[in-house]
Amino acid sequence: MKTLRIIFEDNLSLSISSLEDVDKKEDFIFMSEATPTMLQVKHHKKKIAFLISAMRHFAEGLKKKGYNIIYDKISEHNMAIPYRDRVSKIIQDHNIGKIIVTEPSAYSLQQEIMGYGGVFNIPIEIKEDGRFLSTIKDFKAWTKNKKQLRMEFFYREMRTKHAILLDGGKPVTGTWNYDKENRKFPTNNVDIPKPYSAQNDTITLEAIKDTQHFFKNNFGDIIPFYFAVTREQALDCLALFITDRLKHFGDYQDAMIQGEPWMYHSHLSFYLNCGLLLPMECIKAAESAYHAHRAPLNAVEGFIRQILGWREYIRGIYWLKMPHYKESNFLNATRNLPGFYWDGITKMNCLHQCVDETRKNAYAHHIQRLMVLGNFALIAGIDPKYVNEWFLIVYADAFEWVELPNVTGMILFADGGFLGSKPYASGGNYINKMSNYCKNCHYSIRTKNGPKACPFNYLYWDFLSRNREKLEKNNRIGMMYKTYDRFKQEQKNMIQNDSQTFLNALK
Ligand SMILES: Cc1cc2nc3c(=O)[nH]c(=O)nc-3n(C[C@H](O)[C@H](O)[C@H](O)COP(=O)(O)OP(=O)(O)OC[C@H]3O[C@@H](n4cnc5c(N)ncnc54)[C@H](O)[C@@H]3O)c2cc1C
Ligand code: SF4
Repeated sequence: MKTLRIIFEDNLSLSISSLEDVDKKEDFIFMSEATPTMLQVKHHKKKIAFLISAMRHFAEGLKKKGYNIIYDKISEHNMAIPYRDRVSKIIQDHNIGKIIVTEPSAYSLQQEIMGYGGVFNIPIEIKEDGRFLSTIKDFKAWTKNKKQLRMEFFYREMRTKHAILLDGGKPVTGTWNYDKENRKFPTNNVDIPKPYSAQNDTITLEAIKDTQHFFKNNFGDIIPFYFAVTREQALDCLALFITDRLKHFGDYQDAMIQGEPWMYHSHLSFYLNCGLLLPMECIKAAESAYHAHRAPLNAVEGFIRQILGWREYIRGIYWLKMPHYKESNFLNATRNLPGFYWDGITKMNCLHQCVDETRKNAYAHHIQRLMVLGNFALIAGIDPKYVNEWFLIVYADAFEWVELPNVTGMILFADGGFLGSKPYASGGNYINKMSNYCKNCHYSIRTKNGPKACPFNYLYWDFLSRNREKLEKNNRIGMMYKTYDRFKQEQKNMIQNDSQTFLNALK
């Protein structure tokens, strides 16, 4: 029987389950640049060019190995015809008797594919995605009978299950988590290594041209383009991270420096999420660097925790809570997304810098996303729908399974504390401590109220006051109300007035 194996834009691994046991004579592999997930979101131009180039390279590789590939390039025709109809035509043209896919990473796509069985009257086999280190089923089982889900405990189990950084079943040197050591701000003369930059071949140049043509009104700069687009290049990127950056990854994980978008982060999420790299090979590379004394434990453990812990935990939450997770709005936030999230025009230097880097690079590191862009969205009360839309558009690593829990759960507390135990709300002091943005800002970080005051300073208290009913009982943030209650009424009025004036002026 002829089988159609569908490869989506984030399935670019030779070891993907949908390619297991392919019959090179009988089976067809369908790849499309016009999948629902590619077209339904107005992705950053760099992300589209990256995925298109990576898909074309991957398809070339499969062709060389002798597979039958049906490849849909981006075109007006393919953008106009529903994905299902294109699959239907292939089934008829090639007399296909079965479809095999790896479980789609987005809930909506999974639903669509599951529906094909009834529509085409052929079996659809959905295989587990073995690239993840915890299955959806295992994660669900882990959550059973737990009052609270905490990433730290999940992470410890994952360390044990996969025998990572263990010594006789216990964590090496006796400690599971070195997060406390990972909060330094770089002193003078840090020499941050240059990030990986690929040479663009003709396939990539063509992908850039097509993106500019078909997605010309999308957000973001496409040039310069420097992403890895093949497995070999992605492996080079991993190797460069291990030799150049990993040793300082932990120390400066939370630091933000104006003009230094890449810091000591790995920049591997793009490749992990589309399949050019596998999580376990990144974890093993970091673990080996520790054993070879090439990187300290706080850096290696911190990096491994992000991949083995956070990344897997976030995916587990997505599949546990979808489809309702998308509608979560625990704090009833209703504000529109301010225009500066798109054009970067704001006097708040931290936000200006982070949006500008996002537009240029389709990348911002975790703390910029969490403590600047996310924190503002939280304390300004922006509707989760708009915040999710923005985060899914602007980053080259954004796929709904990872974007949504980070936004709805981690930054907006829109799930009421299911993913995280408290909202990551903060005034300007945190940004000032971990960055040098405030030195170049129109606003004064030290001023609490009035037109020159840092807006984060009063918006933070206004956020707490507005959401008192829902947050006062939270045992990690509730104590802030004791401080708020000690403010004189005059100060409380100033907080409220400044916040209203500022928020009303947002466009
Ligand atoms: C509001 C918000 C939105 C985010 N949206 C995305 C997204 O769309 N796609 C995405 O991959 N990550 C997202 N993250 C998580 C994290 O910010 C990015 O994974 C990270 O910045 C990618 O850069 P890096 O590869 O240099 O990461 P590093 O700092 O070098 O970390 C190493 C790896 O750990 C993983 N990781 C770290 N933190 C997380 C996390 N919270 N969730 C999942 N994986 C994590 C990533 O795979 C990353 O490549 C988001 C975080 C926040 C706060
Ligand atoms: S003063 Fe406030 S708005 Fe300005 S950069 Fe610092 S934290 Fe951001």
